[in-house]
Amino acid sequence: MASEFQLIERYFAGRGALREDVVLGVGDDAALLRVPQGMDLAVAVDTMVEGVHFSPEADPESLGHKILAVNLSDLAAMGAEPAWATLALTLPKVDEAWLERFGRGLHTLAQRCRVALVGGDTTRGPLALTVQVHGFVPTGQAIRRGGARPGDLVYVTGCLGDAGLALLVLQEEVRLPGRDRTSVLERLDRPQPRLAQGLALRGLASAAIDVSDGLAADLGHILEASGVGATVQVQRLPVSAALKSVFDAAGGWALPLSAGDDYELCFSVPERRQAELEKAFRDLDVGCTWIGWVERDRGLRCVLDDGSMVVPAAPGYDHFSGA
Ligand code: ADP
Ligand code: MG
Repeated sequence: MASEFQLIERYFAGRGALREDVVLGVGDDAALLRVPQGMDLAVAVDTMVEGVHFSPEADPESLGHKILAVNLSDLAAMGAEPAWATLALTLPKVDEAWLERFGRGLHTLAQRCRVALVGGDTTRGPLALTVQVHGFVPTGQAIRRGGARPGDLVYVTGCLGDAGLALLVLQEEVRLPGRDRTSVLERLDRPQPRLAQGLALRGLASAAIDVSDGLAADLGHILEASGVGATVQVQRLPVSAALKSVFDAAGGWALPLSAGDDYELCFSVPERRQAELEKAFRDLDVGCTWIGWVERDRGLRCVLDDGSMVVPAAPGYDHFSGA
């Protein structure tokens, strides 16, 4: 049986991207890292616990991808460029086949996003995964939640509701043909952090957030932090062909409005910057859709094209509500 030290050497030392700003990576008491001059350091951390965020049957490669992806999504929402990650792993036992696959998912995404794995911690206990990411954003240019102003336009990247649809498919409440089934399960298991989009929004967006708990809830956080309100034209919400094909069976606009786990970016942009925004997004793999306006009146209003209002479902999972 491999020792803790051997496991770290085998699966985690020197992994991810090679970066010159890593003075010292895995192996000492602490990593030594160099933040470039003129940059602020953006830091985010997220934990996924077996039985809470994923089931015991979850594919380890997808878990490795997702625990890094959800963190990178937070950096994207700040307009930060990722650089480093640390990994705290709590494992019930040493399962090398599991570690191999988990590492493959994590390191593949890390390399693709130029993230170096620079340290971590390994302990025994119920399976829990924690990643902390570190990224750079030019001093003063981070995109915060609190900058939305009345008159700004509200946008969202990509499509909404696919991850929620994947849950309905797994619960066998909705059936999808093979290709659509695969594509929505991929959206749930392998979210793609919108890093290029976040960088494109620097200096343009007045506020941004990543959609982890559902559009209504997360846009609500922007509105709260900014002391404003918004109207969203529900029928403008971008949905995939897969979701369109089972739209009514999947609950209509409830998924794109309220389902979590899509990891798209929701942001506001002053109206006079609209042309620049379109130009900045023109060559990106995933674009953005205008969905509404920021207004002085607080609160979120979700309207259909006939003028009637939709009340979004209660926001996503709150770990401490009612506990
Ligand atoms: P210490 O007791 O000094 O905290 P550890 O034995 O926890 O040292 O870790 C030894 C080295 O291995 C450290 O550099 C630490 O950052 C790294 N490390 C431990 N676990 C992991 C992991 N799961 N992934 C990446 N690096 C790790
Ligand atoms: Mg330690």
